[in-house]
Amino acid sequence: MKRTLSQQKGTYMKAIRLINLATLLSLLLLPGCSHCNRKVDSLYQTSTIDALLVGIYDGSTTFADLKRNGDFGIGTFDALDGEMIALGGAFYQAKADGTVLPVADTAKTPFAVVKFFTPETTLPLAAAPDLTSLMRQLDALLPTPNYFYALKIEGTFPAIKIRSVPAQQKPYPGLAEAASRQTVFQFQEISGTIIGFRTPGFAKGINLPGYHFHFISADRKVGGHLLDCRIETALLSLDKVSELHLALPENSEFSQGNLGQDHGRDLEKAER
Ligand code: ZN
Repeated sequence: MKRTLSQQKGTYMKAIRLINLATLLSLLLLPGCSHCNRKVDSLYQTSTIDALLVGIYDGSTTFADLKRNGDFGIGTFDALDGEMIALGGAFYQAKADGTVLPVADTAKTPFAVVKFFTPETTLPLAAAPDLTSLMRQLDALLPTPNYFYALKIEGTFPAIKIRSVPAQQKPYPGLAEAASRQTVFQFQEISGTIIGFRTPGFAKGINLPGYHFHFISADRKVGGHLLDCRIETALLSLDKVSELHLALPENSEFSQGNLGQDHGRDLEKAER
């Protein structure tokens, strides 16, 4: 059937309007689409440290989701099965038996913090005899304690002490009790990367206030939650963060969890 010029023009205008609507919609939806989060310089966190402290260990977020929100970070695994380290877009599971494995996209985490690492500052660190003095040195370097920071420390470390926790059985114990079954590993003259975050004190309950570091060796054969370290020469990269995206687990374990109390003392036992 032949259409008149005005009919054709009408169809043409309708098509233009549809294209404009599609463009408008895509612009409106852009900030929310997962692959565009790369442009947002924010932390992405799943669950809270308090939920972990009371034993909420059911994995709620897949590593495929985490990877869409960061290439750098720390966390744990379903049932608290080891320590998570993400560096340069590669995700590792440091298990309590001392092995380090790559993480499948389908694996799930009950607690993790990631971001796309975009450091503003890189500078050499002074020697530090232990983790406490390293943290003091870092505090003095921060422009302000009132933001989150992602930190990466690369070097050959004279001493490193790390731990990992074995998978827990249900009913899950709290984190302090689970951590009492941790395996501790110590190394001398080991090359690798300390990675982690500094959380401001006012975010207590959401994440561990102060520094929380994990370590992975340069050969990716050992890793875990950092308990202590000695530094002679190392390079610090610092990424200040002023946005936090908090994804709370949508499951009965979290929704029925006892999250209204102060778990500060358990936190010291579990993480320091
Ligand atoms: Zn840790």
